[in-house]
Amino acid sequence: MATTPALFVGHGSPMNTLEHNQYTAAWSEVAGSFPKPRAILAISAHWYVSASAVTSMAKPRVIHDFYGFPQELFDFDYAAPGSPDLARQVAEIAQPTVVSLDDTTWGIDHGTWSVLAHMFPQADVPVVQLAIDATQPLEYHMDLGAKLAPLMDDDVLIVASGNVVHNLRQIAWDGEGRGYEWAQRFDDDAREVMLRRPEELGQLLESDDFRLAVPTPDHFVPLAYISGLSAATGATTSTFAEGCTMGSLSMTSYRIDR
Ligand code: ZN
Repeated sequence: MATTPALFVGHGSPMNTLEHNQYTAAWSEVAGSFPKPRAILAISAHWYVSASAVTSMAKPRVIHDFYGFPQELFDFDYAAPGSPDLARQVAEIAQPTVVSLDDTTWGIDHGTWSVLAHMFPQADVPVVQLAIDATQPLEYHMDLGAKLAPLMDDDVLIVASGNVVHNLRQIAWDGEGRGYEWAQRFDDDAREVMLRRPEELGQLLESDDFRLAVPTPDHFVPLAYISGLSAATGATTSTFAEGCTMGSLSMTSYRIDR
């Protein structure tokens, strides 16, 4: 039986939802490279809370969790259905780790829909989001990622969405398509780890560039789900987008296949 890949997508600016550039083209292209999944489990940097939970509502709301962007972006709708069945399945396979069912609080945030808008523009694949528990160490997220392996055999696409390098204070507004030296160096180090020894993701925390590249963990931690999954399954890892932009954002994106 063919398995479904799992992805880490560097999502960058919410404006990517509306734009067409080399990165959004890569997202669209990767989605066309395997059969349409029955559902998507998204792990977004933007649902970063103090517990692990999955959205379990049949009709998740679309969350516009940003400010200072054009009205067109606030008007953007991504009316994908939810999947209470997949939510229950995730809670089940995570045990004994507790992942609670959330049928009221969250929905689909822009870490997810900015990417899915290009991957599945029809919004016709059910989407469940898995929250990131901010109180837990990196190993917890790698372990939980490893537990998601059965979903790859069950026609579910796992999409972790963040940015390996994400420092909004250092953004270079005129730096389209370029990264600072430290940003590119950290992104290269991360790629080396992801492609060759994903079980050692934690070593990146010791890098001299870590403090600048990852000033807050939220956009980095989604990568731990994919490295954990890759390490546990022995999957092959490849990149489907690479590079930094606006100085301090890495758009590098990974795909694992069993
Ligand atoms: Zn983001």
